[in-house]
Amino acid sequence: MIKYNLTCKCGETFESWFINSEEFDSLFKKKIIKCIYCDSSSINKSVMAPNLRSKSNKISKKTKFEKNLKKQLLDFRKYIEKNCIDVGENFSREARTIHYDKKTSKGIYGRATAEETSELLEEGIEVATIPWIDKSEN
Ligand SMILES: [Zn+2]
Repeated sequence: MIKYNLTCKCGETFESWFINSEEFDSLFKKKIIKCIYCDSSSINKSVMAPNLRSKSNKISKKTKFEKNLKKQLLDFRKYIEKNCIDVGENFSREARTIHYDKKTSKGIYGRATAEETSELLEEGIEVATIPWIDKSEN
């Protein structure tokens, strides 16, 4: 089975399942596939998303995975807070100081924009971006 995300000229998007891409193509050419909102056959195929999970365990698996991921990120955050210095908004400046002066080997953490992060990486400064999980959120 193959899942297609379909976009209609009316602006709506919806999902539809087909046996394979050939089946989709033939139905599409015959204009059998219609928009579920306005019944138009002016449909365009957008991103293809294979989905191997069965409907019955989809939700519980996802939740469990997210919980595990959340826990790991939370542990990671605790580790960073314990072992590194919070430099807040000065992250990119502090990262450069450490990189060029090599005075301290202590890790730092703080906030940086995507632009600042890519600049640091271009200069050969090791930085990593992690999702910052809120402790209260659970
Ligand atoms: Zn439509």
